[in-house]
Amino acid sequence: MNRSPDGLPPLRDVIARFELAAKKSLGQNFLLDLNLTSRIARNGGPLDQGTVFEIGPGPGGLTRGLLMEGAQEVIAVEKDQRCLNALAEVSSAYAGKLTVIEQDALTVDFSTLGSTPRRIVANLPYNISTVLLLRWLKQIAADPTVYASLTLMFQKEVVDRLTASPGTKSYGRLSVMTQWLCRAQALFDIPPRAFIPPPKITSTVVRLEPHAAPLAPAEVGALEKVTESAFGQRRKMLRQSLKTLGVATGELIERAGVRETARAEELSVEEFCTLARCYQELKEAKPAS
Ligand code: SAM
Repeated sequence: MNRSPDGLPPLRDVIARFELAAKKSLGQNFLLDLNLTSRIARNGGPLDQGTVFEIGPGPGGLTRGLLMEGAQEVIAVEKDQRCLNALAEVSSAYAGKLTVIEQDALTVDFSTLGSTPRRIVANLPYNISTVLLLRWLKQIAADPTVYASLTLMFQKEVVDRLTASPGTKSYGRLSVMTQWLCRAQALFDIPPRAFIPPPKITSTVVRLEPHAAPLAPAEVGALEKVTESAFGQRRKMLRQSLKTLGVATGELIERAGVRETARAEELSVEEFCTLARCYQELKEAKPAS
Protein backbone atom coordinates (compact mmCIF):
# COMPACT_ATOMS: atom_id res chain seq x y z
CA MET A 1 0.00 0.00 0.00
CA ASN A 2 1.12 3.58 -0.69
CA ARG A 3 2.21 5.45 2.41
CA SER A 4 2.13 9.17 3.16
CA PRO A 5 5.08 11.15 4.56
CA ASP A 6 3.95 10.25 8.10
CA GLY A 7 3.93 6.51 7.32
CA LEU A 8 0.13 6.33 7.55
CA PRO A 9 -2.14 5.44 4.61
CA PRO A 10 -3.16 8.25 2.22
CA LEU A 11 -6.32 10.09 3.28
CA ARG A 12 -8.18 8.97 0.17
CA ASP A 13 -7.67 5.34 1.27
CA VAL A 14 -8.68 6.15 4.86
CA ILE A 15 -11.92 7.73 3.67
CA ALA A 16 -12.68 4.70 1.44
CA ARG A 17 -11.75 2.08 4.07
CA PHE A 18 -13.84 3.65 6.85
CA GLU A 19 -16.64 4.63 4.45
CA LEU A 20 -16.54 8.29 5.41
CA ALA A 21 -18.89 9.63 2.75
CA ALA A 22 -19.13 13.35 3.55
CA LYS A 23 -22.31 14.50 5.30
CA LYS A 24 -23.56 17.95 4.41
CA SER A 25 -25.42 18.28 7.71
CA LEU A 26 -22.04 18.13 9.52
CA GLY A 27 -20.37 20.63 7.18
CA GLN A 28 -17.99 17.93 5.98
CA ASN A 29 -15.54 19.00 3.29
CA PHE A 30 -12.35 17.05 3.80
CA LEU A 31 -8.82 18.15 2.92
CA LEU A 32 -6.79 15.35 1.33
CA ASP A 33 -3.44 16.99 0.67
CA LEU A 34 -1.08 16.57 3.61
CA ASN A 35 1.26 19.24 2.20
CA LEU A 36 -1.61 21.69 2.50
CA THR A 37 -2.67 20.57 5.98
CA SER A 38 0.97 20.78 7.12
CA ARG A 39 1.10 24.32 5.80
CA ILE A 40 -1.98 25.26 7.82
CA ALA A 41 -0.45 23.54 10.86
CA ARG A 42 2.84 25.49 10.53
CA ASN A 43 0.87 28.72 10.47
CA GLY A 44 -0.92 27.67 13.65
CA GLY A 45 2.28 27.30 15.64
CA PRO A 46 4.66 27.24 17.38
CA LEU A 47 3.26 23.81 18.20
CA ASP A 48 5.94 22.35 20.45
CA GLN A 49 4.52 23.67 23.71
CA GLY A 50 1.12 23.58 25.33
CA THR A 51 -1.99 22.13 23.73
CA VAL A 52 -3.43 22.45 20.24
CA PHE A 53 -7.20 22.10 19.97
CA GLU A 54 -8.78 20.97 16.74
CA ILE A 55 -12.50 21.06 16.06
CA GLY A 56 -13.77 18.46 13.62
CA PRO A 57 -10.72 16.35 12.73
CA GLY A 58 -12.85 14.19 10.38
CA PRO A 59 -10.59 11.60 8.71
CA GLY A 60 -7.56 13.33 10.25
CA GLY A 61 -5.92 15.39 7.49
CA LEU A 62 -5.23 18.50 9.56
CA THR A 63 -4.63 16.41 12.70
CA ARG A 64 -1.84 14.57 10.89
CA GLY A 65 -0.48 17.89 9.63
CA LEU A 66 -0.32 19.19 13.20
CA LEU A 67 1.44 16.07 14.47
CA MET A 68 3.88 15.96 11.54
CA GLU A 69 4.74 19.58 12.27
CA GLY A 70 5.69 18.72 15.83
CA ALA A 71 2.59 19.29 17.98
CA GLN A 72 3.25 17.74 21.38
CA GLU A 73 -0.37 17.53 22.49
CA VAL A 74 -3.47 17.67 20.29
CA ILE A 75 -7.00 17.49 21.66
CA ALA A 76 -9.46 16.99 18.81
CA VAL A 77 -13.24 17.18 19.22
CA GLU A 78 -15.31 15.31 16.64
CA LYS A 79 -19.06 14.83 16.63
CA ASP A 80 -19.17 12.19 13.89
CA GLN A 81 -18.69 8.79 15.46
CA ARG A 82 -17.85 7.28 12.04
CA CYS A 83 -14.47 9.08 12.11
CA LEU A 84 -13.26 7.62 15.41
CA ASN A 85 -11.65 4.44 14.05
CA ALA A 86 -9.71 6.40 11.47
CA LEU A 87 -8.53 8.79 14.19
CA ALA A 88 -7.56 5.87 16.45
CA GLU A 89 -4.95 4.88 13.85
CA VAL A 90 -3.46 8.37 14.05
CA SER A 91 -3.44 8.17 17.87
CA SER A 92 -1.52 4.88 17.76
CA ALA A 93 1.04 6.29 15.32
CA TYR A 94 1.69 9.26 17.66
CA ALA A 95 1.51 7.56 21.04
CA GLY A 96 0.34 9.84 23.83
CA LYS A 97 0.08 12.94 21.63
CA LEU A 98 -3.49 12.82 20.34
CA THR A 99 -6.67 12.70 22.40
CA VAL A 100 -9.95 12.50 20.52
CA ILE A 101 -13.11 13.59 22.29
CA GLU A 102 -16.34 12.40 20.70
CA GLN A 103 -18.59 15.35 21.45
CA ASP A 104 -20.32 18.38 20.01
CA ALA A 105 -17.69 21.15 20.02
CA LEU A 106 -20.42 23.58 21.11
CA THR A 107 -20.49 21.83 24.47
CA VAL A 108 -16.73 21.76 25.12
CA ASP A 109 -14.90 24.48 27.05
CA PHE A 110 -11.31 24.37 25.77
CA SER A 111 -10.14 26.96 28.27
CA THR A 112 -10.25 24.35 31.03
CA LEU A 113 -8.50 21.55 29.09
CA GLY A 114 -4.86 20.83 28.23
CA SER A 115 -2.06 23.19 29.13
CA THR A 116 -0.86 26.67 28.14
CA PRO A 117 -0.13 28.02 25.63
CA ARG A 118 -3.47 26.92 24.16
CA ARG A 119 -3.83 27.22 20.42
CA ILE A 120 -6.85 26.45 18.29
CA VAL A 121 -6.24 25.22 14.76
CA ALA A 122 -9.23 24.07 12.76
CA ASN A 123 -10.99 23.72 9.45
CA LEU A 124 -14.32 24.63 11.00
CA PRO A 125 -17.68 23.14 10.10
CA TYR A 126 -19.19 26.19 8.38
CA ASN A 127 -22.60 25.87 10.04
CA ILE A 128 -21.24 26.56 13.55
CA SER A 129 -18.08 28.51 12.72
CA THR A 130 -19.21 31.99 13.75
CA VAL A 131 -21.00 30.73 16.87
CA LEU A 132 -17.77 29.07 17.98
CA LEU A 133 -15.70 32.14 17.14
CA LEU A 134 -17.98 34.47 19.14
CA ARG A 135 -17.76 32.09 22.08
CA TRP A 136 -13.93 32.06 21.99
CA LEU A 137 -13.89 35.84 21.64
CA LYS A 138 -15.99 36.13 24.80
CA GLN A 139 -13.47 33.97 26.62
CA ILE A 140 -10.65 36.20 25.33
CA ALA A 141 -12.55 39.29 26.53
CA ALA A 142 -12.57 37.76 30.02
CA ASP A 143 -8.91 36.67 29.83
CA PRO A 144 -6.66 37.73 26.91
CA THR A 145 -4.18 34.95 27.75
CA VAL A 146 -6.70 32.12 27.44
CA TYR A 147 -5.61 31.32 23.85
CA ALA A 148 -2.22 32.16 22.36
CA SER A 149 -3.59 32.03 18.82
CA LEU A 150 -6.51 30.81 16.73
CA THR A 151 -5.73 29.66 13.21
CA LEU A 152 -9.00 28.95 11.49
CA MET A 153 -10.41 28.20 8.11
CA PHE A 154 -13.65 29.91 7.15
CA GLN A 155 -15.49 30.78 4.00
CA LYS A 156 -13.51 33.63 2.39
CA GLU A 157 -16.45 35.97 2.83
CA VAL A 158 -16.30 35.44 6.63
CA VAL A 159 -12.56 36.16 6.77
CA ASP A 160 -13.20 39.34 4.76
CA ARG A 161 -15.58 40.36 7.54
CA LEU A 162 -13.14 39.50 10.34
CA THR A 163 -10.37 41.59 8.80
CA ALA A 164 -12.41 44.45 7.27
CA SER A 165 -11.58 48.12 7.90
CA PRO A 166 -14.18 50.80 8.63
CA GLY A 167 -15.80 52.25 5.54
CA THR A 168 -15.87 48.96 3.63
CA LYS A 169 -18.80 46.75 2.72
CA SER A 170 -17.54 43.82 4.79
CA TYR A 171 -17.05 45.86 7.98
CA GLY A 172 -19.61 44.80 10.55
CA ARG A 173 -20.26 43.31 13.94
CA LEU A 174 -17.79 40.46 13.50
CA SER A 175 -15.04 42.89 12.43
CA VAL A 176 -15.53 45.02 15.54
CA MET A 177 -15.76 42.13 18.00
CA THR A 178 -12.72 40.38 16.48
CA GLN A 179 -10.44 43.39 16.06
CA TRP A 180 -11.32 44.73 19.50
CA LEU A 181 -9.65 41.64 20.96
CA CYS A 182 -7.28 40.24 18.35
CA ARG A 183 -4.88 41.03 15.57
CA ALA A 184 -6.53 39.36 12.59
CA GLN A 185 -4.46 38.38 9.59
CA ALA A 186 -5.78 36.61 6.49
CA LEU A 187 -3.08 34.13 5.47
CA PHE A 188 -4.02 32.32 2.25
CA ASP A 189 -6.96 31.09 0.21
CA ILE A 190 -7.81 27.46 -0.42
CA PRO A 191 -9.66 26.69 -3.64
CA PRO A 192 -12.72 24.40 -3.72
CA ARG A 193 -10.78 21.69 -5.59
CA ALA A 194 -8.63 21.01 -2.50
CA PHE A 195 -11.64 19.48 -0.74
CA ILE A 196 -13.70 16.33 -1.06
CA PRO A 197 -16.47 17.14 -1.87
CA PRO A 198 -15.55 20.57 -3.29
CA PRO A 199 -17.59 23.37 -1.68
CA LYS A 200 -19.09 26.10 -3.86
CA ILE A 201 -16.94 28.83 -2.33
CA THR A 202 -13.27 29.65 -1.74
CA SER A 203 -12.00 29.19 1.81
CA THR A 204 -9.43 31.32 3.63
CA VAL A 205 -7.13 30.62 6.56
CA VAL A 206 -7.00 33.40 9.12
CA ARG A 207 -4.79 33.78 12.16
CA LEU A 208 -6.10 35.62 15.21
CA GLU A 209 -3.71 36.63 17.98
CA PRO A 210 -5.27 38.13 21.10
CA HIS A 211 -4.00 41.60 22.00
CA ALA A 212 -2.43 41.82 25.48
CA ALA A 213 -5.50 43.91 26.39
CA PRO A 214 -8.58 44.90 24.36
CA LEU A 215 -8.10 47.95 22.09
CA ALA A 216 -10.30 50.04 24.41
CA PRO A 217 -12.28 49.33 27.57
CA ALA A 218 -15.83 48.03 27.09
CA GLU A 219 -18.05 45.36 28.51
CA VAL A 220 -18.46 42.55 25.99
CA GLY A 221 -22.28 42.34 26.33
CA ALA A 222 -22.68 46.10 25.86
CA LEU A 223 -20.39 46.08 22.82
CA GLU A 224 -22.40 43.23 21.33
CA LYS A 225 -25.60 45.20 21.88
CA VAL A 226 -24.43 48.45 20.30
CA THR A 227 -22.88 46.71 17.29
CA GLU A 228 -26.01 44.62 16.85
CA SER A 229 -28.21 47.73 16.84
CA ALA A 230 -25.93 49.84 14.67
CA PHE A 231 -25.24 47.19 12.03
CA GLY A 232 -28.75 45.71 12.26
CA GLN A 233 -29.81 48.72 10.20
CA ARG A 234 -26.49 49.53 8.61
CA ARG A 235 -27.90 51.85 5.94
CA LYS A 236 -29.57 54.07 8.54
CA MET A 237 -27.92 56.90 10.43
CA LEU A 238 -26.94 56.18 14.03
CA ARG A 239 -29.66 58.48 15.39
CA GLN A 240 -32.13 56.00 13.87
CA SER A 241 -30.39 52.62 14.15
CA LEU A 242 -29.43 53.03 17.83
CA LYS A 243 -33.08 53.55 18.83
CA THR A 244 -33.44 49.79 19.29
CA LEU A 245 -31.13 50.03 22.34
CA GLY A 246 -33.94 51.42 24.46
CA VAL A 247 -31.96 54.35 25.95
CA ALA A 248 -32.22 58.05 25.03
CA THR A 249 -30.53 57.96 21.62
CA GLY A 250 -29.69 61.68 21.43
CA GLU A 251 -28.04 61.62 24.83
CA LEU A 252 -26.11 58.45 23.99
CA ILE A 253 -24.76 59.92 20.76
CA GLU A 254 -23.81 63.19 22.43
CA ARG A 255 -22.09 61.49 25.33
CA ALA A 256 -20.13 59.22 22.99
CA GLY A 257 -19.13 62.17 20.79
CA VAL A 258 -20.05 60.48 17.53
CA ARG A 259 -21.90 62.11 14.63
CA GLU A 260 -25.60 61.38 14.71
CA THR A 261 -25.71 61.31 10.92
CA ALA A 262 -22.90 58.75 10.66
CA ARG A 263 -23.67 55.17 9.66
CA ALA A 264 -22.38 52.16 11.54
CA GLU A 265 -19.68 51.35 9.02
CA GLU A 266 -18.01 54.74 9.54
CA LEU A 267 -17.23 54.12 13.22
CA SER A 268 -13.89 52.74 14.39
CA VAL A 269 -13.60 49.90 16.90
CA GLU A 270 -12.60 52.43 19.57
CA GLU A 271 -15.70 54.55 18.83
CA PHE A 272 -17.91 51.49 19.24
CA CYS A 273 -16.24 50.88 22.62
CA THR A 274 -17.03 54.46 23.66
CA LEU A 275 -20.64 53.93 22.57
CA ALA A 276 -20.77 50.69 24.56
CA ARG A 277 -19.47 52.40 27.72
CA CYS A 278 -21.93 55.31 27.37
CA TYR A 279 -24.80 52.90 26.66
CA GLN A 280 -24.00 51.06 29.85
CA GLU A 281 -23.78 54.27 31.87
CA LEU A 282 -27.18 55.40 30.60
CA LYS A 283 -28.72 52.02 31.23
CA GLU A 284 -27.39 51.91 34.77
CA ALA A 285 -28.58 55.47 35.42
CA LYS A 286 -32.10 54.60 34.24
CA PRO A 287 -32.79 50.92 34.78
CA ALA A 288 -35.53 49.55 32.51
CA SER A 289 -38.94 49.86 34.13
N1 SAM B 1 -10.50 18.64 9.72
C1 SAM B 1 -10.99 17.89 8.60
C2 SAM B 1 -10.31 18.37 7.33
O1 SAM B 1 -9.79 19.48 7.34
O2 SAM B 1 -10.32 17.63 6.35
C3 SAM B 1 -12.51 18.01 8.47
C4 SAM B 1 -13.08 19.41 8.36
S1 SAM B 1 -14.80 19.46 7.99
C5 SAM B 1 -14.89 21.07 7.23
C6 SAM B 1 -15.61 19.77 9.55
C7 SAM B 1 -15.54 18.65 10.56
O3 SAM B 1 -16.24 19.08 11.74
C8 SAM B 1 -16.18 17.35 10.15
O4 SAM B 1 -15.33 16.28 10.47
C9 SAM B 1 -17.47 17.26 10.99
O5 SAM B 1 -17.88 15.94 11.28
C10 SAM B 1 -17.06 18.02 12.22
N2 SAM B 1 -18.17 18.62 12.96
C11 SAM B 1 -19.31 19.16 12.49
N3 SAM B 1 -20.07 19.67 13.48
C12 SAM B 1 -19.37 19.44 14.62
C13 SAM B 1 -19.62 19.73 15.99
N4 SAM B 1 -20.74 20.36 16.37
N5 SAM B 1 -18.71 19.36 16.91
C14 SAM B 1 -17.57 18.72 16.54
N6 SAM B 1 -17.28 18.43 15.25
C15 SAM B 1 -18.17 18.78 14.30
